[in-house]
This record gives sequence, C-alpha cells and structure tokens, in this order.
Amino acid sequence: MFCVECGSTDKKMVGNICIDCFLKDFQMIELPERIEVQICSHCNSKLEEGKWSEEFIPEEEIIYRALERNIKISDEVSNEIINLEIDQMKGTIASCYVEVVGEVEGTQIEETQETEVKILKTVCPTCSKLQAGYYEAVIQFRADSRDIKKEEYEKADEVVERTLIKQSKKDKLAYCPQIAKLKEGYDYYIGSLKTGRKVAEALKDEFGGTIKESPRLISEDKSTGKGLYRIWISVRIPEFELGDIIRYENKLLQVNDIDKNRVTCTDIKDSKKHSIPLKHMEEIELVKKQEEIETTTIISKSPKTIQILDPVDYSAVDLEMKEELSDCEIGDEIRLIKIDDYIYLVN
Ligand SMILES: [Zn+2]
Ligand SMILES: [Zn+2]
Repeated sequence: MFCVECGSTDKKMVGNICIDCFLKDFQMIELPERIEVQICSHCNSKLEEGKWSEEFIPEEEIIYRALERNIKISDEVSNEIINLEIDQMKGTIASCYVEVVGEVEGTQIEETQETEVKILKTVCPTCSKLQAGYYEAVIQFRADSRDIKKEEYEKADEVVERTLIKQSKKDKLAYCPQIAKLKEGYDYYIGSLKTGRKVAEALKDEFGGTIKESPRLISEDKSTGKGLYRIWISVRIPEFELGDIIRYENKLLQVNDIDKNRVTCTDIKDSKKHSIPLKHMEEIELVKKQEEIETTTIISKSPKTIQILDPVDYSAVDLEMKEELSDCEIGDEIRLIKIDDYIYLVN
C-alpha cells in the first residue's frame, strides 16, 4: 500500500492516503464565522434555539453558550477537550477563540478557530405585547347600586399594584397597560388571564363581593373558525358598608365586618351576632346607611325603660332597656336609627 498523494509506503493509512496527508486537510470542528444571539433589551431574556428564556444570564455566559451550541465536532474525533475564550469585546461583537485537542485515527491533534459572536438587541414577544398594550382580561371594579368612594378607588389601585408585583415574579404578562376610569367604576386591563383572575380575587379579599367572568369574542380567524376571546371579570362589591343597617332573613342587622367570604353583623333588636355568607349577597337588603344613624340624649331611665328625645320632633320616647345600656347615665348621648317609625338603639 502506498499513499496516492505523497507516495509514502511506511505510514499508517487512512483509506488510500497516509495519515499525514489525511490530517493535512482534516478539520476537527466546524464553526460559523459569525454567530448571532438575540437579547431583549427590555427584560434581558434571550432567544436560544427558537425559545425565549427568561432567566438572567451574564453576557459572557450567553456568548459561551452560543459558541457551544454552534460547534460541530467531526465524528472521527474522540477524547476531545474544547477551550472557549473571548478575546475581546467591540461594542456588541465578541471576538472568540475555540481551541480543540482531540484524537483522530490514534493521533492527537490540536486545532484553533476564530469566530465572532454578535449580540443583537431586540424586543422579545412578551415585551412587544406589553408595548402594544396587549391584554387578556379586563377587571371591572364596580359597587352594587351605589357609587364607589374615592378611598375605595385608592385602595383598589393599591391592591391591583400589589398583586401585579407579586405575580410578576412568575408571570411576564403581569402588567396593567390601561386603567379606564368610567363613571360606574374602573376597568383594569391585565396582560394575562391568569394574573387577571388573581387581581379579581385580591379585590374580593379586600372588599368582599362577587366575581363573575364573561368571555367576549374579539375576532375570529376565518381559516380555522377559531375565535379570539378576552375575558371580562366583574368584581361587584356590596352596596352596604361597615356600620350600615341591612335586612336579611327578616332580621335587621348592623354590619360589623365584611371579608372575602362573609358579612358579620349584630341584630339591632337583640344584639345577637350573625354571619352571612357573601354568596347570599343578593338576598341582603340595605335598609339604612350609617350616615343616617342619629344621636340623642337620655332624659330619664328606669330599670326597664330608657327615655330619650326623638331627634326629629323632640318628643319624649320610652324604649325598652337594653343590657348594654344599663350603665348609661341621664344626659349621656346614645345612637339610634328610625326604621318604619320604630326607634332602634344601635352602636
Ligand atoms: Zn501521504
Ligand atoms: Zn423582553
């Protein structure tokens, strides 16, 4: 056997050429002259193999990973050791070296190649959605049969912001591109439905009330017939507020507390405590607002009765003594509410 290229007869042969002639043209690795990496200039997430990944990675690491992904090692190479080096950064271009030591046909060889990694600053799909005002859910913050107070709007804004900050750790679409301030209430536009639901829950936790979702068809893809839906979520907070008098199952009750699931209240006739699940909100009737509670003075008192001045016509009215009033003195001020011409003493 002799080498068809150099004619030598005393060397290890690879096919019909000797090992030296074979290695002369052999390349252990293939590497593009230029590699591009896309990084979102807003959130720093990067595009790798067609997928945007959100974890934060330092720039050097991004360059090394891009090199690793783009090196193709020939099948004939074994026991290879690859060294990557960034020679210098010029703006967004990194000049790099790739050194390989490996065995080919029993011979150890070394190879060095140069390449450039260019970092392209761009905008990832999430950030471009945000810039375009994309949203999947609209949270309608409303009150049942009344206007929402300024303090309630301020509180709601706080709750929405707090929820978005919490959600942004796991949801890139946890943002609010728009708040529509309508006469009947605020509409909070939320990037993702998932976070939209969290926002609605958080509002309900804060104010009590009911949540209702209704999807709306925005557009239809003519080729597939599939619709694009957005979800409107209404959060309706109760008409009654703390201190108000409500009627429920024929009892007159003063509201002590409203939480996400129930209303706690006191019967104004017998001072017994009651708890009403908020899912029965529809059956609760607002009778008197707290502002309608009046103040009057005790004019006389016996173990069984208490006499007060009617705050409207100043006539003397006898009322049954209540246990919690037994310590009251003549001249003390007490609070009362008139319902259907009957006077109730309240707290
Ligand atoms: Zn040869
Ligand atoms: Zn981004």
